[in-house]
Amino acid sequence: IRFGDLMLKGKNQKMFVKKLLSHIKIKFADLAVNINNKHDQVILEFKKDDLLEVETRILQIPGIHSYSIIHETNKDINEVVETAINLLNNNLEANKDYTFKVETKRSDKNFKYTSIEFTKEVAPLILKGTNKNLKVDVKKPEVTLHINIRFDSIYIYLDSKKALGGFPAKVAGKGLLMLSGGIDSPVAGFLTIKQGVDLEMLHFESTPLTPLESINKVIDLSTKLALYLPHNKIKLHVVPFLKVHEALLNYVDDSYIITIMRRMMYRIAEKYANKNKIDILVNGESLGQVASQTLASLKVVENVTNMPIIRPVATYDKSDIIDIAKVIDTFNISIKPFSDCCSIYVPKRPVISPTIEKCEVEESKHDFDTLINEAIENIKTLVIKSDDKIDLSMHGF
Ligand code: ATP
Ligand code: MG
Repeated sequence: IRFGDLMLKGKNQKMFVKKLLSHIKIKFADLAVNINNKHDQVILEFKKDDLLEVETRILQIPGIHSYSIIHETNKDINEVVETAINLLNNNLEANKDYTFKVETKRSDKNFKYTSIEFTKEVAPLILKGTNKNLKVDVKKPEVTLHINIRFDSIYIYLDSKKALGGFPAKVAGKGLLMLSGGIDSPVAGFLTIKQGVDLEMLHFESTPLTPLESINKVIDLSTKLALYLPHNKIKLHVVPFLKVHEALLNYVDDSYIITIMRRMMYRIAEKYANKNKIDILVNGESLGQVASQTLASLKVVENVTNMPIIRPVATYDKSDIIDIAKVIDTFNISIKPFSDCCSIYVPKRPVISPTIEKCEVEESKHDFDTLINEAIENIKTLVIKSDDKIDLSMHGF
């Protein structure tokens, strides 16, 4: 496992590496894995059968930039050749030509071959033995087989694979993600956690106006995001939004309902974040996807808060957001057809260029401040672990 950019971060480097190591240890605590830290890399030793599980978990740890699957052999040419052949046969596509080279490094200077001699010795045997079509190109090969001759063994591996990148979990302060049941906000959450933000979830629910399933959906989404945080654990705060929601439907000009609903959400999110010493708000807003996400709308909505707001997918195309949603396995949950408070009510003509003045006039038609404070007082917090089942009735829903 390699840390990549992390090693360039000067003063913070020690703390980053410490946090990352601690996450790695927690992640593999229940598997028979040996963890050895050597400067800018970590070697995990594990049983062959656990390979798939180990790879899956490596890809859940922010701050790891790349990794290689290393095969260890004795210092025996035949064993090296055989391992290399298996590696190439199992990892390269059939019926495809590749350019190829062997790259040997040696830390054991007493080994009977120099690096170049060893390459010259094994390369022809490997080329002859594999069932792949390989052509030697030492300058710009598509595939490099690395051989590291160490003091007591030899490491053999192909090129490194890309991991999550980003920064170790929780090194960057706290954020509050406005998590809907849609496709965008879980992706926004993942991208933020990946950069080292300690993220908690905030969901506005309007049962029985919206179905209880929509809360379950958000719980399922949270279990997926939890996988990227230490202990696979994440907090989900559920805001009882019904009274605000009903007041919006009863008192506010139809075309302004969505805009003002979003202003209410931001007000509640900001107050709750301040109360819990959370530094930033995060959401899945994306430019131009719907009327409530025009620049004019964003301006009017954001006007009610002073908190920094991060919108990780603001400039993404929907198809790119969906690609990420599939990788983090939230897509199939998000497309389940249960409405949340934003989708249950769709005004006939939502305003595209709302004004702050008109919002303020509409908001003065009812005592929304009291409703907001009441909602905040009644927020329920669920601690979600990736492998737990949550029984909502136990939480008073
Ligand atoms: P998403 O796919 O994330 O639902 P969307 O494209 O459907 O986004 P909207 O429904 O307008 O867009 O919501 C924009 C953002 O507002 C969401 O990404 C989310 O961050 C936040 N949001 C919307 N509804 C809720 C809710 N019920 N609880 C918490 N946050 C919400
Ligand atoms: Mg939505």
